[in-house]
Amino acid sequence: MLASKRRLYPPPADSYRSGLQTVIDVFSRSGMGSKWFPRHAFNEIRSWRECGGRYTARPMQRPFGIFSSFLQRGAEFVVNLRSEREIAAMRRAGLVVWGAHQLALSLVRPGVTTGEMDRAIEQFFLDHSAVPLFKGVPGKVPFPAVCCMSVNEEVVHGIPSDRVLLAGDVVSIDTGCSVGGWCGDSAVTYPVGEIDADVQRLLDCTSGVLALAIQLMATRNRWSDVATEMAKFVRDYGFTVVENFVGHGIGRKMHEDPQVPNFCTPSFRRNHDFELESGLVIAVEPMVNMGSKKVRALPDHWTQSTVDGRPSAHFEHTVAMTDNGPVVLTAGPAAGDASANEELV
Ligand code: MG
Ligand code: MG
Repeated sequence: MLASKRRLYPPPADSYRSGLQTVIDVFSRSGMGSKWFPRHAFNEIRSWRECGGRYTARPMQRPFGIFSSFLQRGAEFVVNLRSEREIAAMRRAGLVVWGAHQLALSLVRPGVTTGEMDRAIEQFFLDHSAVPLFKGVPGKVPFPAVCCMSVNEEVVHGIPSDRVLLAGDVVSIDTGCSVGGWCGDSAVTYPVGEIDADVQRLLDCTSGVLALAIQLMATRNRWSDVATEMAKFVRDYGFTVVENFVGHGIGRKMHEDPQVPNFCTPSFRRNHDFELESGLVIAVEPMVNMGSKKVRALPDHWTQSTVDGRPSAHFEHTVAMTDNGPVVLTAGPAAGDASANEELV
């Protein structure tokens, strides 16, 4: 029986840390560090890898100036572990998100606009008493739609518009909603009509690496082990994992700790890794580019595009760890799934 609790990272009794690190921590936390090494321009600089794009870790304090990154332990974060009842509540939100994707699947075809699909999904959420999570997300301009729709070379955060989809395009639709205060978040890249074989291969790779991650969550203890194999899987295809954006914890809010990258670095393993234990609920969302992994923001302040103009794909599921292994909360209802709402089937 799962009970709701909170897990602090790094663990307070941190046996693998060196004596020197412990001394440095005590020194840093005492405030003496900031007295002797006043805050200056290097404070709160985070490396772009550590930032992970949208879901930034807490600012790192740098009492040791530019040397801090060599000395300091990682930012602390708290992971909420959900009870069985809470996970069941999140499943209800996940089913509505799945239903929205079924609607998208029925609409996507050459000639449809991304704006039309977004409006249909907004109405779907309204009909199911679900609160869209994306609309109004703060940024330089608040996000204006209930879905992100990113076409071809657009990676994530595309704004639905009057753009007409053409045969051969791919459109990544990412959407989320909350039901009864609990969130679900899922993305799928849809082909529009017939697409090139190499683009289909990109879609196969991206959906495949998401499936691999969920499968590995059953047997691995820590996310770093899953992320390492995800990156290898994509590399073996000859594609690249986007590193500027990562997945996230999810629960009462859409974006919670921990950060869930689709690749692993020594810094992640050291400072941001987390255990795959019962009650953990995360949105796993690999973004894979055909060419360069680098992305750039477009002038609309939201859309992220590949720098080389080659296509990108994005698949995402909200996944809960339970005593029986990982459960995909944004999947369709299985036979005998008591939580399935018949209206959505
Ligand atoms: Mg999403
Ligand atoms: Mg997400």
